[in-house]
Amino acid sequence: MVKVDKNKCIGCGACAATCPEVFQMEDDGKAGVKSGADVKKNAKCIKEAIKNCPAEAISN
Ligand code: SF4
Repeated sequence: MVKVDKNKCIGCGACAATCPEVFQMEDDGKAGVKSGADVKKNAKCIKEAIKNCPAEAISN
């Protein structure tokens, strides 16, 4: 299951821009995974988001 490590996330917003159906920016200024996100359908952009995250905060 894809997840964001909030201790590592620097809140840059790249993942939410790359894969908006899965990632969202939350009240704490960090990214989170949307509840009910379709990870199968979005597998490709999740991969992109993991690759592009400057903090290596996303794991799958
Ligand atoms: S790309 Fe990485 S550092 Fe940037 S908001 Fe997403 S999880 Fe956080």
